[in-house]
Amino acid sequence: MTFKFETRAIHAGQEADKETGAVIPPIHMSSTFKQDGVGNHRGFEYSRTGNPTRNQFEELMASLEGGRYGLAFASGSAATATVQLMLNEGDHVICGDDVYGGTFRFFDKVMRRFGVDYTFVDTTDPVNVSNAIQENTKLVWLETPTNPLLKVSDIRAITDITSKHGIMSLVDNTFASPYNQSPLDLGASMVLHSTTKYIGGHSDLVGGVVVTNDENIHEQLRFLQNAAGAVPSPFDSWLAMRGIKTLAVRMERHAMNASRLIEYLLERPEVATVYYPFLDDHPNSQVAKEQMRTGGGMISFDLKDGKNAAYNFLKGLELFTLAESLGGVESLCEYPPDMTHGSIPEERRAEIGINPGLVRLSVGIENVDDLIADLEKGFANL
Ligand SMILES: *Cc1c(COP(=O)(O)O)cnc(C)c1O
Repeated sequence: MTFKFETRAIHAGQEADKETGAVIPPIHMSSTFKQDGVGNHRGFEYSRTGNPTRNQFEELMASLEGGRYGLAFASGSAATATVQLMLNEGDHVICGDDVYGGTFRFFDKVMRRFGVDYTFVDTTDPVNVSNAIQENTKLVWLETPTNPLLKVSDIRAITDITSKHGIMSLVDNTFASPYNQSPLDLGASMVLHSTTKYIGGHSDLVGGVVVTNDENIHEQLRFLQNAAGAVPSPFDSWLAMRGIKTLAVRMERHAMNASRLIEYLLERPEVATVYYPFLDDHPNSQVAKEQMRTGGGMISFDLKDGKNAAYNFLKGLELFTLAESLGGVESLCEYPPDMTHGSIPEERRAEIGINPGLVRLSVGIENVDDLIADLEKGFANL
């Protein structure tokens, strides 16, 4: 029998402790495990290689993504780096041109030094992926929705292309969360999360995970997880599992609050554009509505009067905390041009569409009337 998402979020990988009956399994804060004789162990030898608490978390994440195998890492970036270690000198990767800044930095500044070649294309049109394929292309790296403009790529259309060519595909599903989007069901060979965001959900941990259905990919990644060693602690694995129990209810409320804030923002004369995957004037809203359960909890919008207006708006907010990161229960706000996307050159930002008046909100699960009253304070401060 397979349980539905909300049930799996609470129960998958987590049975009551066999020894004590503890409903919440204990955290195995142990680096090493007693062997009953040389080479005669009970499934665990050393915690970099495997830890019971991490195993539970990995099993839970696999279940939520509808995959067979999950592997946990010390951060989303560690997960990204470990996936790249599957590649060899001379290999080629096609990557979205609007992916997480740290992902771009690792590919461009680190992996290129090892002779791996990257082509960055606008993946919102699958034809661009098709056109970029070379004989040595091994991997297509997608992020959807993207940060901060929430651009959406058609996962099914792109994985149809990659599977025809025998190329691996990975979707960074951090912004959607497994509640809203299931990339493996749409044909992706791997799905990746920064569990720092919606998975953890309480802004109290840093972590990452990769889930796959492909045994061969899993065996390679498991080898690399142990060989490179960027694993999360048992405590962080436990904390992530604790956060996940409420993932479904959190994601519903994030989306409900977001849609109310959007209604409000669309009425404000100071706002030029609102960016959200499910808005009708979003260029890929059709695809978004087909592949996502809700539009999620992230909103970006342009203020007509540019940078000064954005700065004043953010200064006027009291409940929304000015901070990077996203996906926690508390609402956050930020100014992408000088914060999360500050390292991108100005001309490049203009090309992507990151305008000087852009504000990004990570909508939390507070009472929505309080959130709207806070935005009101921001506008009053313009
Ligand atoms: C935060 C983030 C990452 C990196 O994860 P860390 O846990 O910060 O290393 C990767 N992709 C996306 C989309 C992110 O938002």
